[in-house]
Amino acid sequence: MYTALRLQRKLKPELKRGEVEIVVISPDPYMTYQPFLPEAAAGSISPRHVVVPLRRVLEHCRVIVGEVRSVDHAKRTAKFTTLATVEENTGALDITYDELVLAPGSISRTLPVPGLADHGIGFKTVEEAIGLRNHVIEQMDIASSTRDPAVRDAALTFVFVGGGYAGVEALGELEDMARYASRYYHNVKADDMKWILVEASGRILPEVGEEMGKYTVSQLRKRNIDVRLETRLDSCEDRVAVLSDGARFPTRTVVWTAGVKPHPLLAATGLPLNERGRLKCTAELSVYGAPHAWGAGDAAAVPDVTAEEPGKECAPNAQHAVRQAKVLGDNIAATVRKQPLQKYAHKYVGSVASLGLHKGVAHVYGRKLKGYPAWFMHRVYHLSRVPTVNRKSRVLAEWILSGLFKREIVSLGSLEHPRAEFELAAGGERPKES
Ligand SMILES: Cc1cc2nc3c(=O)[nH]c(=O)nc-3n(C[C@H](O)[C@H](O)[C@H](O)COP(=O)(O)OP(=O)(O)OC[C@H]3O[C@@H](n4cnc5c(N)ncnc54)[C@H](O)[C@@H]3O)c2cc1C
Repeated sequence: MYTALRLQRKLKPELKRGEVEIVVISPDPYMTYQPFLPEAAAGSISPRHVVVPLRRVLEHCRVIVGEVRSVDHAKRTAKFTTLATVEENTGALDITYDELVLAPGSISRTLPVPGLADHGIGFKTVEEAIGLRNHVIEQMDIASSTRDPAVRDAALTFVFVGGGYAGVEALGELEDMARYASRYYHNVKADDMKWILVEASGRILPEVGEEMGKYTVSQLRKRNIDVRLETRLDSCEDRVAVLSDGARFPTRTVVWTAGVKPHPLLAATGLPLNERGRLKCTAELSVYGAPHAWGAGDAAAVPDVTAEEPGKECAPNAQHAVRQAKVLGDNIAATVRKQPLQKYAHKYVGSVASLGLHKGVAHVYGRKLKGYPAWFMHRVYHLSRVPTVNRKSRVLAEWILSGLFKREIVSLGSLEHPRAEFELAAGGERPKES
């Protein structure tokens, strides 16, 4: 989206003269600002406001809601499916191009853990974030209404696997939300809940550095969150999470945030990939040895020209993705106009992470911040980054309103089954909980 935005601005005259067409193919008609997913899960931001509608912002582009399946760069052709081709079973469509931008991002890196495919939930999409929020509140309702202590215990046990941004922020925000929500239950108290963070390495949040990572562990433990380092999830069959340290937790919630891997589409392009499956790119963001193919974001291995050690690549994060997209847009515009290309150079400035309302940790431009100042910086930073003035204003308004009024603690899990009531009226059965 950022590359297309840049291109439609830079190539305005060519677009007006009909010399250029920009086509964006995306499975969703919106772009998701992932760093806001934990706040969406906590109910601090509405799901609608963490996404940006592509058709509205890319008004000079052709937006196709579909999925690219393969690319034949020698023939300058990509195959893609749409909702209609899938429904009508008519096979993939072809699209030809002059310049190709591949930025499908990454997908969750899963391991063959028994039971994970049946019971795990990821945390990369707005559907998963809102689904998880509804699920957590629903578990509190189950715990409040059951007479079976085993069901209650499993409902109130929440296991998160992976101590990177996504895992720590999602856990921090959801635990904070659930703790707040427990005030409104007569028989579920904050101390009745078990929140467990399982991390295979000896540290969490490597993005904020070792010292701040240790601080984060101590803060989470102070909140009674069970942080287990150098521990893995061995299995989660039959709704029991078994850890490598021998611990067993009956649970109905296993959130898998143990890292990402490049999108599998890249393997179906025939373009050069590095050993980890990312697209091999130059500092100008073109694909090595494949003129007119470009890459950016999590999917692309871009040399970090600011690094002291040679051969270092830019890390897969939003900080690089957004900045690369702009340089990429400029470089494609320069190619169209036969002008010289620029190199992508950005020195990683550090990171900010939210650990719940008014709690955070940051290590930015060499400065370390904790607690409220870090949380405030997290909000200011991401507000400045979320695309479009429209979204910035809506997010800010929501924050102000939630500061004035109480937090939303309602679960709208039934939204996932909109036909349930009608099916019941028409003589069917209510859908069973999965
Ligand atoms: C919960 C969470 C919190 C995070 N917090 C931070 C943070 O605080 N700071 C930070 O720097 N980074 C953060 N990140 C990481 C950051 O969000 C990613 O690095 C960034 O989104 C990568 O951008 P991208 O454009 O490469 O990929 P994405 O944002 O994943 O976009 C890829 C797009 O390609 C589309 N696509 C996929 N397959 C196809 C296909 N076959 N055809 C067409 N389109 C396709 C996808 O639907 C998606 O819209 C966080 C990530 C998560 C999950």
